[in-house]
Order: sequence, then structure tokens, then C-alpha cells
Amino acid sequence: MYLGIKTKLNINIMVSVAEASSVVLTHLFTPSVETITFQHAVNRVLAERIVADRDFPPFDRASMDGIAISFASWKKGRREFVVQDTQPAGVPGKSLEDAQQCMEVMTGAVLPKNTDTVIRYEDIEINDGTARLLTDDVVLGQNIHNQGHDAPAGSILLEPGVLLSPAEIALLASVGKVTVQVFGFPAAAIVSTGDELVNVDATPQPHQIRKSNTYAIQAAMRTLGWAGTVFHVPDDKENMVAAMKSMVETFKVIILSGGVSKGKFDYVPAALEEIGIAKLFHTVNQRPGKPFWFGVSKEGVTVFALPGNPVSTYMCFYRYIRPWLLQSAGIKAEQTMAVLAEDFSFVPKLTYFLQVAVKIENGKLMAYPDPGGGSGDFANLKNVTGFLELPAEQTRFVAGELFPYFPFRPMV
Ligand code: AMP
Ligand code: MG
Repeated sequence: MYLGIKTKLNINIMVSVAEASSVVLTHLFTPSVETITFQHAVNRVLAERIVADRDFPPFDRASMDGIAISFASWKKGRREFVVQDTQPAGVPGKSLEDAQQCMEVMTGAVLPKNTDTVIRYEDIEINDGTARLLTDDVVLGQNIHNQGHDAPAGSILLEPGVLLSPAEIALLASVGKVTVQVFGFPAAAIVSTGDELVNVDATPQPHQIRKSNTYAIQAAMRTLGWAGTVFHVPDDKENMVAAMKSMVETFKVIILSGGVSKGKFDYVPAALEEIGIAKLFHTVNQRPGKPFWFGVSKEGVTVFALPGNPVSTYMCFYRYIRPWLLQSAGIKAEQTMAVLAEDFSFVPKLTYFLQVAVKIENGKLMAYPDPGGGSGDFANLKNVTGFLELPAEQTRFVAGELFPYFPFRPMV
């Protein structure tokens, strides 16, 4: 399927974005399982089933501060109740001995025996040990959070594949999961190429620039709980082959940036093939990021060789590598769609990744185009929240149309 259109030079295998994506997603990895403390599990992917060890909540719980009464005596017309005792939270359940009386109860306390209705302090007045109702609006069972209402003991709270948010951390804490199994992702090498690149702490010569792509990828990976080690190889084929040979022995995933295009010193594809990484495609019908190269080795090393222009690297990560990681971990994420907020046109017959800033307006995700100055203009990424994928066969895109949206940053 992906042995599609060839370029004029007949050296590349060009695929569409959909084909590239499907090739990448048919080469998923099998994640390992790690045990970590639950406090470090946010943003990790759950690898085990989490079951309620007790009912949620574990007892009939007063959900308001006030008094607990027997509804039957209210029904018979009683509006004043002598306070028998107080039921604080964290104390075993007491018992209301006289149904004509009441028990003061605190939020989180066990509902006293022989009571079935809680009236909040706001709706009563207590004088000389007697509570008098200020409202006639009383319903049987009000202000009580019933035992097992949210989840019965033994029920499944979470299945493997859940991306753990703070809400799930609360559940893990609640069932006493001090340690939890999460998926571990394969160690990745993140490799920059290019003789113009210098280290972040260096002062560049006029013809040099500091490396940034590898750090953007490393940071994007960290948000997924995925660790990557940063490397650099020069634009020298022998050097590159030697460096990659040793990398494939240590790493299961190699993400390269730069050196995959048609430049005289773009040795990455040749070096990868020389060390036995089988090319599955090279060049994708997309802008930015057209020279993207993807391959796998017999030993199961997956190589993403991304074009070096910073916006290309960035978008290829979010369009291909992130979904590859999430699907490998069993996360079934639905494709987000956003509404194009303004007319836009793009004539070349390429899928265009349009940088957009999304805003929620009238409940809709509205995407405002901000294309920036091309694939080298990575400063523009600070102005946008993600990109829309505009199909290759269309040239005019009308405000109001829906397109797949790939976010770089969470909504705030
Ligand atoms: P290349 O794909 O090697 O032709 O590089 C395309 C452009 O991206 C060049 O201007 C490079 O200097 C730039 N570039 C390549 N790698 C990086 C990197 N790691 N950080 C920042 N810019 C880069
Ligand atoms: Mg280069």
C-alpha cells in the first residue's frame, strides 16, 4: 500500500499522510510494565485493573453539617427535635434512641442508626438543646451519600490503558494502591544531526545555531512519561554509521532530526540503510515535514528520521510519534476535530498542517489560523495551540468546516 508514488529521481518512496500514519501504527511496540508509587503516576498509563476494595462510599455518609432525623416523625408533623448527641466524622456510628429527637451530624460522619434524613444547619435554629426547622422543604434521604452509591465493592474502577490524571490518582489513593503498575516505554535516543549545531551552553559563531529540536522532542516525550537521551552526530557518513550502530544496540527507538533531505551532506537515510534499518517510506505528501523517513530493523528497532526544520520536527512528532506511543500503550484516543474559524487557502497538492490557536466559543472548538513564517519559524509555535490537518485535494478551506486537530498544549 505504501509503495506508492515515486519522485522524479526515483529514489524516494512517497506516501500520503494517511498511508504514513497507518504504516507507523502497524509497527507498534509492546510496552513493559513498571511498578511506581502512586504519587508519581500522574500522566502515566495504567497497566493494571483497579477494583474498589470497599463500597464507594463505605458507609451511609452525612453530606452536610446539620441534624439527622427520622423522616417518619417529620411526616407526622414534628418540627422541633431535642438534640440527643453529636455524631462527628471519624467516630463509629451512634444510634438515635428516640425517634422524636435528632442527632447533630457533621459532613463525612456515619449516618446514625434510626435516622434517614439530614437537615443542614442553614435550615434550622438550635436553642437550649432543641433544633427547630426553618423550612418545610424536607425530602426523605436528603443530604445522605448512600453506601455503595458511587461504586460497589469489587467493581472495576479503572482498566489498563487509562492515561492517569489527578482524578485517577485520588482513586488509587482511596483504594490503598501505594504502588501501581504503569506502562514503561522503550528507551529512546533523540539524535540531532548538522555541523551548524552547537550545544545550548555554547556561544554560537555567526554561522552556527544552538540545537533546539532534540530538546523539544525530549520535553514532549516527558509529558508522556517517556524518557529520551539526547545525542548529536556530525554530517559525516562514517561517523554517523558508527554512532548509529552503537545506538541500535542500546535503544529500541531512535528519533533523528535533520539530514534526511536532498542536501549534499544529508547522510541519514544511507547510514540507516547501511546498518540494516529497512526503509518503509521516505517522503510524505505533507507540508511541513515532507522528507520524513521511517524504518524498522529485524531486531525491532524503530527509527523515525524527521526533517530538521524545527516546525517539521515538531509537527511530525505530534502527528506520528505521539499517536504511535499512545496506541502502543493501548490508549484509544478519539481524534479531536476543530472548526476552522477563518477562510484559508493552500494551493499545493500537499496535506497542510496549519498552525492554529484554538479558543472555545459558544461551546465549539474554534481554530484561528496563524501559519507563521514556514518550517524554520519555530518562534511562531509559542503563539499557537496545535495544528489542523488540511487535506491535500482541497485548496480553499471555508470558515465553519471541521478538520482533525492535533494539540501541542492543553487548554487553559
Ligand atoms: P536539515 O533537515 O538537516 O536540512 O535541516 C534543516 C534546517 O533545520 C537547518 O536550517 C538546520 O540548521 C535546522 N536544524 C536541524 N537540526 C536542528 C536542531 N536539532 N535544532 C535546531 N535546528 C535544527
Ligand atoms: Mg542538516
